[in-house]
This record gives sequence, C-alpha cells and structure tokens, in this order.
Amino acid sequence: MIGEKWTSFRKLIPEKNVVIVTDENILRIYGKDFGDYPVLTIKPGEKSKNLDVINDLTGRLLSLGIDRGGYIIGIGGGVVCDISGFLASVYMRGIRFGFVSTSLLSQVDASSGGKNGVNYGTVKNIIGTFNQPQFVICDQEMLKTLPEDEYLSGLAEMIKGGFIGDAGLVEAIENNIQPILDRETSLLTDLITRSVKIKASIVNNDEREKGIRKILNFGHTFGHAIEARTGLNHGFAVAAGMKIAAGISVKMGLLPTEVRDRLLKLLMLFNLLVDYHISFDDVKSYILKDKKKAGNLMNFIILEDTGKAAVNEITAERLLEYYIKHDW
Ligand code: ADP
Ligand code: ZN
Repeated sequence: MIGEKWTSFRKLIPEKNVVIVTDENILRIYGKDFGDYPVLTIKPGEKSKNLDVINDLTGRLLSLGIDRGGYIIGIGGGVVCDISGFLASVYMRGIRFGFVSTSLLSQVDASSGGKNGVNYGTVKNIIGTFNQPQFVICDQEMLKTLPEDEYLSGLAEMIKGGFIGDAGLVEAIENNIQPILDRETSLLTDLITRSVKIKASIVNNDEREKGIRKILNFGHTFGHAIEARTGLNHGFAVAAGMKIAAGISVKMGLLPTEVRDRLLKLLMLFNLLVDYHISFDDVKSYILKDKKKAGNLMNFIILEDTGKAAVNEITAERLLEYYIKHDW
C-alpha cells in the first residue's frame, strides 16, 4: 500500500496477540502513535541483524504469550523488516506479519519481494527465508524525518531499478532532481510505485531467485564487498558497485559508453559516488567467498542498455581480470 497513511496498519490487524518490532529511532519519532500494542525495540543499524537478536526477541515473544495465532508488525527500515520478517517466519514455525516500511531503501526494495534474513558476521543475509508479509504500508510522509545519507542510499536502489528494468523511471528521475531532493511526497509516491512494480514483475517470474530475479543484484557483487570492507552505507556501496559493474559491461563490449555515463551522471547528481578505499586483495577474497557459494561459475549482472540487464555467467578469475582492466 504505497501512499497510505502509516497508522492505518491498526485497521489491518487483530486486537490481541499482536506485537510491534521497531528500532529506537522510529520509536522515538513515531512511537506515540503506535497504539496499545506491546513494543519490542532493537538497536538501529545493520549490526542488529544477527541470530543473537532473534534469540533475544524470541524470549520476549514467549514472555508476552504470543502464540501460533500471533501477529508481528515490523515498523522501520530494511533492518527492522528483515529481522521482524525472519522472526515471524520461524517463531512457532511461522506466524503472520506485516510491515510499515519507513525508509526509502526499504520502501523501494527491502520490504517487498519476500526475502527475510539476518547476517552471519560480515556475510550478509546468509540465514533467512522466503516468506511474504500480509501487507506492506509505505507512507512517503515518513521519509521527511529520514537522515540525508539514508535517503540518498535509498535513491541508489531506485536508480538501480530504473536501469535494470524501466527506462521511463530513469527519465522521470532525471527530470525531477530537485523535487526528489526536496522529498516531494506525491512525486515520491509515484517513483516508489514504479520501483516496486519493476521489482514485483521480476519477483513474480522468479520468486526463489533461480534465474531472472538475480538481475536485482546489479551492483551488489562489488557493492557488498565494498560495504563489508569499508562500512559504507548500503546504497553508497551499491552505487560504487554499479559504477564498477557498468564499467565492466562496457569493457566486455556489451554496454554502450553513453549508457554507463548516463548512470554515472545520475549517481553523481545525488552525491552517491563517494571516495572509499578497498585493496585488490580484499576484493579478491570477497569475490572468491562468493564463488564458494555459487560454484565455479558466478552470476555477474551486466547492464546492456537503459532499462535492460542480464545475468552473465563468468568464473571468479575472469571477473577479477575484468575488474582490474575495466575503465574507471
Ligand atoms: P535500511 O537503509 O535498510 O532501511 P535501517 O533499517 O537501518 O536500514 O534504517 C536506516 C536508519 O534510518 C536507521 O538508523 C533507522 O532507525 C533510520 N530510519 C528509518 N526510517 C526512518 C524515518 N522514517 N525517520 C527517521 N529515521 C529513520
Ligand atoms: Zn541492495
């Protein structure tokens, strides 16, 4: 439900056996309108996405007497959605859950698609489930209180969505730079709706990520390496990863230079291309770890045009050669 007032979640859930999961920031800003439900609060940030937190929350669900008919509402960004969705998926073998998605990143990406999970150390989302919430509410008014970097980070995923699946969205973003920076509510409702439609059409064809869904990982192979090693915010790391992936696509002869430049220009307009440092050895060890997961051939997402991406099967060794050689 995009453009819906967030408090309407109360009309969608039972009166009892409900618990809200949120983080400290969201509780401070929005907690007074949560209603009379018990609230479980986590520390904000990616560090909370681990099994210790799931363990702790499980204990709190039990002491609240939440049973099989229970219902968890996650109110927060991607971290809260991931944790509450995973918790609900495994607690008593699965109870119902819904999201109020409060960050731009989670509105365009994390809260839809049915992936929930936590990290193991720096290995992201390695323990998780595919499981859909009963509802997701995305209220663009809530984005007004989002810190600037978090907002820009979400724009990186929106730009990714356009480049892999909808040239019209890329154009709409290009034509509205200032209104986007001003967080104009109705414009954001429109752009987020388009982003979610791209994601939904991809996920509907391949919910379990056997094939085409992989294109949503554009920019994420190198992005995750950069995020893990430098601690850069997800969207900024993905922006850096998209720059590398587009550069490699050009080097492979599969992407016209103009399209790469169009992507870079947009990322630059939103200050998403920041300085970072990562050694080749760090990139290499991360990519080789990825290879272990995927087998000999990795699925690297290349860009072919504005609005068009593809899965490229490549060995880790060749990918690293392209990484060294590609045009920065
Ligand atoms: P993601 O970027 O995956 O959504 P988080 O869930 O960690 O990641 O959210 C990013 C940060 O923004 C967290 O510190 C969170 O508390 C904060 N946050 C999320 N939504 C809002 C909001 N609407 N207003 C203010 N802060 C928010
Ligand atoms: Zn991402």
